[in-house]
Amino acid sequence: MENCIFCKIANKEIPSNFVYEDEYTVAFNDLSPQAPTHILVIPKKHFSSLNEVDDENIMSALFKAVQNVTKKLGIKEYRTVINTGEAAGQTVFHIHIHILAGRPLKWPPG
Ligand code: 5GP
Ligand code: ZN
Repeated sequence: MENCIFCKIANKEIPSNFVYEDEYTVAFNDLSPQAPTHILVIPKKHFSSLNEVDDENIMSALFKAVQNVTKKLGIKEYRTVINTGEAAGQTVFHIHIHILAGRPLKWPPG
């Protein structure tokens, strides 16, 4: 999708260091990390939020990618977050799963 920053990252229009890549997904470090490890996993195909994902292959590929990323980095304890909609804190409207690790994380989130 035009003017989507994460589409541009996924299709390599914007050079990024991918932590992980497979047929359906890429993962890269968050620009503004909220923990020592803060990685975003996104589908290569554009869906503006979880509400729009209509492909079960991509749904499972995203979670498989989270497993692969954490395995690759040797991270056993981490938080995954999907913000859906402005009120939930979504600011980039291309679905992404946050992986946060490396410090104690409080609950409930703000
Ligand atoms: P959201 O608030 O939508 O759940 O998360 C969006 C995340 O994307 C934020 O944590 C923000 O720091 C990150 N982000 C926004 N623009 C960029 C970018 O151009 N590159 C990277 N690597 N992360 C970005
Ligand atoms: Zn996009």
